[in-house]
Amino acid sequence: MICLRVFLRALLGLVLALCLGRVSAARLDLPQGFQFQALGPGVAYLEDPMGLWTLADVLRRPDPQWAHNPSDVPTLGYSQSAFWFKFAMKNRGPGGLSTLLEIAYPMLNHVNLYVIQGGGTVWSYPMGSGQAVAQRPYPHRNFVVPIDLAHDEEVEVLLRVQTTSSIQVPIMAWSPQAFLIQDNIINILYGAYLGLVVIMFAYNLKLLIGTGDRNYLYYICWVTGMAGFVMCVHGLSLQYLWPGQVHLNDRALVLLVIGICSSAMMFSVHFLDVHVAMPQRLKWMHAVLLVNAGLAVGSFLFPYSTMIRLAIVSTVIITAAIGQMSIQRWMQGYRPARYFAISFALVLLGGVAMSLSKFGLIPRSVWTEHSVTLGSALEIVLLNLALADRYNGERQARERAQSDLFDWQQKHNDMLEAKVAQRTKELELANWQLQQYVNRMARLQMGSELGATLIHELRQPLAAIQSFAQGAVTMMRTALDADRLERVLGRIVDTSKKGNVMLDRMRAFLTQDNESFQPFDLHDSVREALVWLRPTCQQEGVVLDVLDADATPLWAQGDGVLAQQVIVNLLRNAVDAMIAAPSDPRRITVTTFSDSVFAHCRVTDTGPGLPDQAQDQLFESCFTTKPNGMGIGLKLSRSIAREMRGDLTMEPASVGASFLFSIPLAKHAVSNVSAF
Ligand code: ADP
Repeated sequence: MICLRVFLRALLGLVLALCLGRVSAARLDLPQGFQFQALGPGVAYLEDPMGLWTLADVLRRPDPQWAHNPSDVPTLGYSQSAFWFKFAMKNRGPGGLSTLLEIAYPMLNHVNLYVIQGGGTVWSYPMGSGQAVAQRPYPHRNFVVPIDLAHDEEVEVLLRVQTTSSIQVPIMAWSPQAFLIQDNIINILYGAYLGLVVIMFAYNLKLLIGTGDRNYLYYICWVTGMAGFVMCVHGLSLQYLWPGQVHLNDRALVLLVIGICSSAMMFSVHFLDVHVAMPQRLKWMHAVLLVNAGLAVGSFLFPYSTMIRLAIVSTVIITAAIGQMSIQRWMQGYRPARYFAISFALVLLGGVAMSLSKFGLIPRSVWTEHSVTLGSALEIVLLNLALADRYNGERQARERAQSDLFDWQQKHNDMLEAKVAQRTKELELANWQLQQYVNRMARLQMGSELGATLIHELRQPLAAIQSFAQGAVTMMRTALDADRLERVLGRIVDTSKKGNVMLDRMRAFLTQDNESFQPFDLHDSVREALVWLRPTCQQEGVVLDVLDADATPLWAQGDGVLAQQVIVNLLRNAVDAMIAAPSDPRRITVTTFSDSVFAHCRVTDTGPGLPDQAQDQLFESCFTTKPNGMGIGLKLSRSIAREMRGDLTMEPASVGASFLFSIPLAKHAVSNVSAF
């Protein structure tokens, strides 16, 4: 319970110190149960320009020589002089009092504290930023001296300060308990800040590995550098990171300032797309980077005081450039630049506030002291928001582009589909029209082929009829023999009937309207063909040698009338060939025979035959050597033969031409093969 009360009072003291500023005068009057008391305005101080005075020298100085600092916290800007501060501490309580006197600025290089008791005893405490924390009177990042005061005792305190940093000397007295509590609270706040840095470090490292975006790398360097800087400035690095390595602290501070500036610049350049929006700046940026690299190397060679000044000059230039670029980009409408500009302004504000307080231009307070820490904490969060905003912006742009592409593809596909459908329709129409045309052409072609065929095939029966009719006329003019005349006229009638039948079968064959083939006697077909050709042969003096059919029929499977037509064509061609090229003797030999599968009819003549090259074209359409030929007889004849599953071929012959017409044997005749 007591602990809680003490804690709350210490906390209240701290809050008052943070919010209301100083609560005491230039003398520390410490009542019973006091927790915390800061030295107020009006502290007496003395400047030793050469820094050579001893304590005795200073004590000899009369009071009028001492000046009085009006600010809450003695602040005298930057100076090479040594400064002496003087104040008293008095125990107002009823008993003894243990106190901790704190000088809360760890950057002071040399601090000598003298406590002079009433009897003239002097206690000396030499301290400074160059002293390891463990060697200090009280192991703490700030300069802390334990002072015990007896009942009603008053001591005089003299403090000598000489430093390259700002002469700023915040002095306060604490009860040990309150000091511990406030120190814990401060440590927790620093812990929270560093925790934030570690979390952001890990989070952004993950994003860096995941996305490969260099912005995250620069961000990590920037915020880590800021955290390192805060730790150095507040003495945490010397206490926790590299205890005892006092020289490292100064060097680290220079390196950190340079590192922060460089990474901040790289981050800004990439984050704000400077290489796209203001490419002319890049050269300049590279030059500054080069200078910073030189400064980093120089920090190992030259004194801290020189290097920190140069680093600060570089920082001011880079800060101005980054600020200007971020505002310009914001004005240009680049959305992520606003987070960037705000976060950057916050750190800048923190830095400016701290600097102004160090120069003594504004009073030192807990806000000015931690403005950089606070600003950088806000900056860490805001920059992360800026990165997320940028990433989201890029993702949205990507998604928009994808969606546009998808829409375009969809539109394109629809258009394509519509076009394909239209083209298909057009093609279907064109195809239908083509089909109609082809059908019409086919009908026309069929008609013309049919016509040509009929013309070709009609010639022979007509020629036969003509011969018979002429015979009848002659007969009537010479000796009228009624019986013979009747026979001749009967032949005319018979031939015209058979001609009709033949035309019928030809039409059926050409229009594919065949009835199924029947067994027929090939000898019959030969005989009928000879009837038609005999008159022409007699006229032209062609001897018809028929290796005469005996009574035995030669049964073939097919159509006898069509077979007759094939034989007529072969005989007609033989006669024509012999007429065209007079040959002696003019002889046609017709032979029929069969093998185990086919019944054959061979027609051989003694005409001129055919040259070898012509033999290949014989069965092609329109091949003819005759002046009034049509070139369809052999083609048609082969088609008829093949339709009946047989064939028509030309055979080699020593004299004239020889054709072999083959038809499958009728089934019942296969075992009864004969020849004549
Ligand atoms: P066309 O008789 O109308 O000319 P064909 O197809 O029946 O048509 O005959 C084609 C050609 O084959 C004839 O023009 C002819 O040159 C040649 N030919 C057919 N048979 C014989 C043959 N026995 N001797 C010589 N040439 C022939």
